[in-house]
Amino acid sequence: KYQGPSLEKMKIVRKSNLNPVLTTYYSQPLAIHQGYKQWLFDLEGKRYLDMFGGICTVSVGHSHPKISEAVNEQIRTLTHCSNVYFHPNIHEYAEKLAAKLPKQLKVIYFVNSGSEANDLAILMARTFTGKHEIFSLKNCYHGMTYQTMALTCNTHYKYPVLPNPGFSKTMNPDVYKGIWGGNRCRDSPVQSDRNCSCLEHCEAAKQYLKQFQEDIKQEFFTPGLAGFFAESIQGVGGAVQYPKGYLKGVYDAVKSAGGLFISDEVQTGFGRTGDSFWGFEGHNIEPDIVTMAKGIGNGFPLAAVATTQEIARSLTRATHFNTFGGNPISCTVGLTVLNIIEEERLQENSKQIGTHLLMELAKLRELSPFVGDVRGKGLMIGVELVSDKESKQPLEPEKFMKLWEKCLGYGLILGKGGLHGNVLRIKPPMCITKEDADFTIQVLHETLQSI
Ligand code: PMP
Repeated sequence: KYQGPSLEKMKIVRKSNLNPVLTTYYSQPLAIHQGYKQWLFDLEGKRYLDMFGGICTVSVGHSHPKISEAVNEQIRTLTHCSNVYFHPNIHEYAEKLAAKLPKQLKVIYFVNSGSEANDLAILMARTFTGKHEIFSLKNCYHGMTYQTMALTCNTHYKYPVLPNPGFSKTMNPDVYKGIWGGNRCRDSPVQSDRNCSCLEHCEAAKQYLKQFQEDIKQEFFTPGLAGFFAESIQGVGGAVQYPKGYLKGVYDAVKSAGGLFISDEVQTGFGRTGDSFWGFEGHNIEPDIVTMAKGIGNGFPLAAVATTQEIARSLTRATHFNTFGGNPISCTVGLTVLNIIEEERLQENSKQIGTHLLMELAKLRELSPFVGDVRGKGLMIGVELVSDKESKQPLEPEKFMKLWEKCLGYGLILGKGGLHGNVLRIKPPMCITKEDADFTIQVLHETLQSI
């Protein structure tokens, strides 16, 4: 039973002592006390199905007993010693994590958050290539440190400050709202049929690519392309997928311009997309750097950057050091997460339950005038709500909130995202069941009718 401070007391503290921009997600704050597997429990003990997984972070389930045991054991033995000494955990974990990656990505740097990982990847791209310009896609999210804020391209996360120089953006190849339309990756169970019927050679991908090639031809203040960052499927941006062939095309263009390709797998990694362990797999590309966070630690502050021996060598001109990165506790968590994903076959579950969810959501798209688009892969899903399917105008915020809060009333937690906040984001712990998926569909069916 919950015995901590009251909700009223927490509201006061939040107002006076915490980041004022993070008010309440719902009109009344939701105060969570406990979690177990795919469920969260509020102060009164009401149970919620967590289909947002702490923003795509809880990969193997809340309070997984194997992680609790491993952490307890490690805390009893040693919390911290620093990476200037050898500790078995970091060695065991680095070897196991590297084995999950393409063979050229052998070297792992451990850090504590996704922003830190991307910050380090920027540094690597610049030190290795000796060039400065970094490209990313409009509508992307790569972090909130001062440096990654310049990489991120979403107005909600932009302050009116002079950004760090050397960051450019190219058009977002959004198959739903982008000007060139485009079909999705053929692997997606929810094919888009808009504007483009060419499956093999997607015209939209070609057009977006042409734009990128124009963009990198410009003369930059600092010469040359150092790197290109992309999420395999945009997360915060609203589960945006690219037209078939785009990632491969952009990868080739970046490589021939002498830059590095950086795959941000912070949301799409660790089996979430179902078919593969990493979201970039299946796109016929070999990233030079992969950044990861969130699901890697199931909610524990752990993140990493994987790269090649050559790129890592370029970072030896100075000492790269991180006090907490790779500490014995975070490594034990990371290692246990990898074991659980394998033992409980969670990647397979992501594929199976995610595909079922996508197919059922696609039926809702046919039934409801408000479901404009259903997209994603595995358990990385977006449902874009619109006021009008023809114009694709975002659903009015009041209606969106009404639906969203009704879902909460039924005990269903969903995320929201996209530039206009009109995309339902479904990224639950990967241990959810078919019953959970069916419950989600049932609640959405009901609540969509109510607006
Ligand atoms: N990259 C992506 C794709 C993300 O979604 C996020 C977080 N939303 C980050 C990087 C930054 O991670 P963190 O919040 O751990 O710094």
